[in-house]
Amino acid sequence: MTIASNLIHLQERIATVARRAGRDPESVRLVAVSKTKPAEAVEDAARAGQRLFGENYVQEFTAKAGEVREPVEWHFIGALQSNKVRQIAGLVTMIHSVDRLSLAQEIERQWAKLDTTCDVLIQVNIAGEATKSGTTAGELLTLVREVALLPHLRVRGLMTMPPFFDDPEGARPYFRELKRLAGVVAAAGIPGVVMDELSMGMSGDFEAAVEEGATLVRIGTSLFGEREYRR
Ligand SMILES: *Cc1c(COP(=O)(O)O)cnc(C)c1O
Repeated sequence: MTIASNLIHLQERIATVARRAGRDPESVRLVAVSKTKPAEAVEDAARAGQRLFGENYVQEFTAKAGEVREPVEWHFIGALQSNKVRQIAGLVTMIHSVDRLSLAQEIERQWAKLDTTCDVLIQVNIAGEATKSGTTAGELLTLVREVALLPHLRVRGLMTMPPFFDDPEGARPYFRELKRLAGVVAAAGIPGVVMDELSMGMSGDFEAAVEEGATLVRIGTSLFGEREYRR
């Protein structure tokens, strides 16, 4: 299978499940997760019509972003150390993985220098897994209130990575809970905060995520094939 045919197939699956759930297929955007894949793979997907890509590792990402010759948009979706924010400033239009105030403050510093705003999602660790980043559901509102005070960040929604399940139905309660939490945040009416994006769903479970309201699905393997774990 080529990247182009995988992309067509994926877009069809996303559109089909969106329609079945009574949603406009246009309300779900595919974030093509290109971590560990070369710039050529990104360019192949871009030539097939994909514009939005997600990356996880700062060094790999900045090198790749410099090589890609097609017009693309990047989101940062991985765990992010504050001392590396400077390297991605201006290169990404959204960061999905804001999970603590210190990180948000560093994004504020770097985007202030650029005199632009950075769209961010707050990552929530719903299951409270020690191995995953994300704020807890209990601390979410406090964090959103603090981040909302930073003028160069715009909180656009929430992101989650559920625990791994062989059966994609296992992830569904976590998607449903993220949507509920977004409703709680929206109802708090925090100035400057909108909850119009829900980043949830990967190759194995994006259909359940779309049914539960995902607006950004982050898909790597089903588009680019298995990853070479070379880190
Ligand atoms: C790698 C990754 C994905 C994509 O996972 P696949 O199973 O390959 O689709 C999505 N989200 C995050 C945060 C990731 O790190």
